[in-house]
Amino acid sequence: MKFSQLALLLSAALTFAQGLEARTLVHVGKLIDGRSATAASGKTLVIDGKMIVEVVDGHLDPGTGDELIDLSHATVLPGLMDMHTHLTNEGSKNSYLERLQLNPADYAFRSVVYAERTLMAGFTTVRDVGDNYNVSISLRNAINGGWVPGPRIFTAAKSLATTGGHADPSNGRRADLQGDPGPKDGVVNSVGDARKAVRQRYKDGADLIKITATGGVLSLAKNSQNPQFSDEVLEAIVDTANDYGFMVAAHAHGAEGMKRAIRAGVRTIEHGTFMDDEVMQLMKEHGTYYVPTIMAGKWVEAKARIDGFFPDVVRPKAAVVGPLIAETFAKAYKAGVKIAFGTDTGVSAHGDNAEEFGHMVENGMPAMEAIQSATSVTAELLGIADDVGTLEAGKFADLIAVDGDPLADISILQKVQFVMKEGVVYRHAE
Ligand SMILES: [Zn+2]
Repeated sequence: MKFSQLALLLSAALTFAQGLEARTLVHVGKLIDGRSATAASGKTLVIDGKMIVEVVDGHLDPGTGDELIDLSHATVLPGLMDMHTHLTNEGSKNSYLERLQLNPADYAFRSVVYAERTLMAGFTTVRDVGDNYNVSISLRNAINGGWVPGPRIFTAAKSLATTGGHADPSNGRRADLQGDPGPKDGVVNSVGDARKAVRQRYKDGADLIKITATGGVLSLAKNSQNPQFSDEVLEAIVDTANDYGFMVAAHAHGAEGMKRAIRAGVRTIEHGTFMDDEVMQLMKEHGTYYVPTIMAGKWVEAKARIDGFFPDVVRPKAAVVGPLIAETFAKAYKAGVKIAFGTDTGVSAHGDNAEEFGHMVENGMPAMEAIQSATSVTAELLGIADDVGTLEAGKFADLIAVDGDPLADISILQKVQFVMKEGVVYRHAE
């Protein structure tokens, strides 16, 4: 066969293949693309399989075999991303008792429900920053394998703590039930323990490392602010994490623990309640992201008012820390710290994640920036900005739609009408 004949044949085959390839056209009313400072209107997203292949001006007519999704009345945004969830838990009065009662399968069944609620609320990507029995790893795999619907998950699995620290699983138990948890259970006290614990998480199949750099509110221990890791242990964790391609997320309320963690090179500070000017300066120097979780503060503050909801050791911590997180957020935003959206959902109820936007806007962040903090900023944080976070050609078709304008009323994001993840429609309320 001559070259020209071959070229002709190839081009005919290509045309035929293109004719068969059904695309999905999404007619968009208003487009918030996750990057631009203002919304655009009257666009068409052309989707082929999992990918956005083109963003076109106006409403393109579908060709033969093309599927049309009419969102011309709605505002379309990138799928939302929450950097702080716990998909195996949901806070209640029974949470402390349940730790002694539930088996891994109990957590697993619940996590399937929580993951679906998260996706239906418009969150197509989340970090899980602390689970039970590594269930979130299996959940992630089940979602990726198409067994159950849910968001794209990046999980830390079991968090790391020091003995008696915020994520020591045996806190508050009577002596004969405490055992002596070690690196495998996420409890580390030396450089050797730290390296082993990180390597264990690599072996388990985690995606990142979570540490509890200071005390916390909900653990059965007295102090929510004390630093709980020495510098050398923090450095060993971050060093080893780097070897395995893990980023490190650091839970922290007290300033000293934050400073140590930031200097050691963690990627995110979670909660950040007692962040001072020096911490903010350090975060800017090191490019550390702040994941505020204002919702968790509001939730523990409200529950602390109910007699008997929290154990006695927890209640005063919740009453003090809860109201402060919103103020810290306002200060950090003004200071120019990089802020990534995160809710600590799993303390509060799964599916309510978008409530956080309202708190962010109320405390000084413009609505467009709040949306970007949950789309392009989080994609950058996770190192997946080439794939998600904006609605542009070459990105995964992760998109949501709401009725009305979230820039005028951010609470609209709590009523998501349409959810697509990697080109598959999971929700479409007419
Ligand atoms: Zn948390």
